[in-house]
Amino acid sequence: MDETQPIKTLPIIGNKEVPADRIDEPVFFDKGIEVSMLRLDCIHPVVSGNKIFKLVYYLREAGQLAPSTLITQGGPYSNHLAAASYACRVLGIRSIGLVRGEKPQVLSHTLQFCMDQGMTIQYLSRSDYRQVGTEDLTRDFGTHILVPEGGFGRPGVKGAALINQYIDPYVFTHLSVPVGSATTLAGLLQGSSSAPILAFPALRNMLDIGSRLEELGVTDLRRLTLIPDYHFGGFAKKDASLIRFMNEFYLRHQIPLDFVYTAKMMYGIFDLIAKGYFPKGSRILCLHTGGLQGNESLAAGTLNF
Ligand SMILES: *Cc1c(COP(=O)(O)O)cnc(C)c1O
Repeated sequence: MDETQPIKTLPIIGNKEVPADRIDEPVFFDKGIEVSMLRLDCIHPVVSGNKIFKLVYYLREAGQLAPSTLITQGGPYSNHLAAASYACRVLGIRSIGLVRGEKPQVLSHTLQFCMDQGMTIQYLSRSDYRQVGTEDLTRDFGTHILVPEGGFGRPGVKGAALINQYIDPYVFTHLSVPVGSATTLAGLLQGSSSAPILAFPALRNMLDIGSRLEELGVTDLRRLTLIPDYHFGGFAKKDASLIRFMNEFYLRHQIPLDFVYTAKMMYGIFDLIAKGYFPKGSRILCLHTGGLQGNESLAAGTLNF
């Protein structure tokens, strides 16, 4: 297979345009700052954003097995599980999802979606989840590719680095990305742009980004600026101001955000601009990493999109 065009070999990604949409606000204009969003959420109506990139090389490895089997892990609202289940169905790969915790009385929409794609779901206690054994999995499911939670790992970074092809290295003075497992961040850090990367952890007190990046093979952290203050209380936590921001953002820019990652990052970018963080002339590219299926867990009527 042609290594230089791995994306085009995946029918799920195809050759979709990924626009960089300008976000115009009077206050940005006043301060001489330009903000754009790289719309990775536009790649596919079902599986959008960074997850499909992180999966590219794992899917390729799994597809070479006979029978092809991919096992992966996630929580009951995991964007990663949703993307993996869909991609596996499209590519004819058997998929197994190891889900943290007890089987819920009412399935989350994410788990229902995964099962509708044909994913076999196995529920694991928290301790079993943390230390899934390859031997047990091989006994239960045969030869397989095990994809860590969120696609964390070197193949995930290689896939995430494909996102760099959509980023013009000469246009932007700053890149901005939300962080979960730090795999996408690691991929971005491998791009040819020299722009600083603002990283917005979706978790509270995420102190291990450095060691995560090291494990992922990234040692040069000079471009990295950690912005840890916009987690809104922790992973998947939210408050009225975040929801208000998302609804207003959609009204003004017609771009849907997800409440776990991209909304917190954009809130942070808006706030930093208001506080004068960016010098005049800054051109900021924010990655819309998708994940919109996660909004389904919000009560009906919470969002205006
Ligand atoms: C998973 C996810 C992230 C985090 O990506 P990592 O590579 O795990 O850091 C960011 N945004 C969205 C929408 C996601 O679903």
